[in-house]
Amino acid sequence: METTFVILKPGTVQRGLIGEVINRFERKGLQLVGMKLQQLTPKILTEHYSHLASKSFFPAILASMMASPVVLCCWRGVDAVRVVRSLCGVTNSRDALPGTIRGDYGMSVQENVVHASDSVETAIEEVKRFFKPEEIFEYSPLNQRFVYSSDELSKKD
Ligand code: UDP
Ligand code: MG
Repeated sequence: METTFVILKPGTVQRGLIGEVINRFERKGLQLVGMKLQQLTPKILTEHYSHLASKSFFPAILASMMASPVVLCCWRGVDAVRVVRSLCGVTNSRDALPGTIRGDYGMSVQENVVHASDSVETAIEEVKRFFKPEEIFEYSPLNQRFVYSSDELSKKD
């Protein structure tokens, strides 16, 4: 099973959309394995968004991501990284399809509701960056055998 990392951005917290967004992941069948409210800092954001550091909009992203506390969460499931990216929709919320989180709750590129890890490697780094090992929980969801077939559950990924 993969574990992927999601941020509910400050706009999502401010607009009272935390429950709506969490609900999307829960009802899909993903398992919540870590969650906390945190005020992000320039240091952690500069690491997290290092691929955008040279962009002119970088200071705007930092300000936006520090505008209020955010919800940090980790979701586990078979192919969780790509499943969560596809639930989120494309970066520009105006282009994101209806039915996706950004498509349903956003109108902006910058203010696009959520962050989600973009690859298995990135997910491993991001979970480690934002969560201590003891903040990630291993537990067996009782509904697991109704969410997946037994061969999917035994798949090693
Ligand atoms: N972003 C922006 N302007 C851009 C591209 C990105 O404000 O032209 C912001 C946006 O909030 C996005 C974040 O920077 O979610 C990270 O960009 P990335 O390309 O990694 O997109 P994502 O993986 O979030 O879809
Ligand atoms: Mg990204």
